[in-house]
Amino acid sequence: MTDAQLIPLIDAQLPQTQCGQCGHPGCAPYAEAIAAGEAINHCVPGGQATIDALARLLDKPSLPLDPAYGVTPEHRLVAFIREDECIGCTKCIQACPVDAIVGAAKRMHTVIVDECTGCDLCVAPCPVDCIDMVAGPDIPMTWHRPDAAPLSANEAAAKARADKARARFEAHQAREAKRVAAKAASRPNAVIAAPKSAGAPDTSALMIAAALARSQLKKAQKQLAAQADNATLKARLPALEKAVIDAEAALAKAQAPASKRVRTTGDIS
Ligand code: SF4
Ligand code: SF4
Repeated sequence: MTDAQLIPLIDAQLPQTQCGQCGHPGCAPYAEAIAAGEAINHCVPGGQATIDALARLLDKPSLPLDPAYGVTPEHRLVAFIREDECIGCTKCIQACPVDAIVGAAKRMHTVIVDECTGCDLCVAPCPVDCIDMVAGPDIPMTWHRPDAAPLSANEAAAKARADKARARFEAHQAREAKRVAAKAASRPNAVIAAPKSAGAPDTSALMIAAALARSQLKKAQKQLAAQADNATLKARLPALEKAVIDAEAALAKAQAPASKRVRTTGDIS
């Protein structure tokens, strides 16, 4: 069998989380690496069931998951955005390999739970830490069976989910490739954006600062609710509250129309 024939068969065994925990930028690249001789025990979300399926396919001995790559979670996870804390920066949308987040710049974002693979790639880029990984639908990550018995409804749902994630990942990759090609093609004629005028301040940094201040205050309040006697936390609260007031005032001032902006002593240079 040629590599071109083998790679899709290997890829068909992988859970299509597209998380990169195997050290490759998606399941298909790991399938290519396996066809080229890489070990079969690097897929963390797939865990033992996927390794066993790969071993059967390739007629190799099975192995335990290599712990250097991580630990398989017990339950399928999905991302959850705390929408009241979202600042609409779009960083999570850009990070999602399967386009499972909807939203627009400066508008609240939401995860489409049915499309989320639980890859975790949107969590780190969020500047205000408003994305949690929570237990997802009660569908296993894998569907493999050592025998030819028909899949249970839950296993069939797991396979359908993986197939859909593969299609969405491929569509995402194709769109990104087009975007990069279009950008490269337009570069010789690119127009450099005019700098912002002094009368139109860039408010994005202030929005992030205000959201961060709110997020830190909320975290401290939550911790204090659980540890009412924590004197250190109690002592920090007034400063955190003041930070929120100051950050929101700075943002409101920057967002006010130029005619309404009041000059203060600090504005006069
Ligand atoms: S699910 Fe993640 S770890 Fe497994 S093959 Fe795909 S990208 Fe790699
Ligand atoms: S929403 Fe987050 S966790 Fe879910 S697939 Fe997209 S990047 Fe991964």
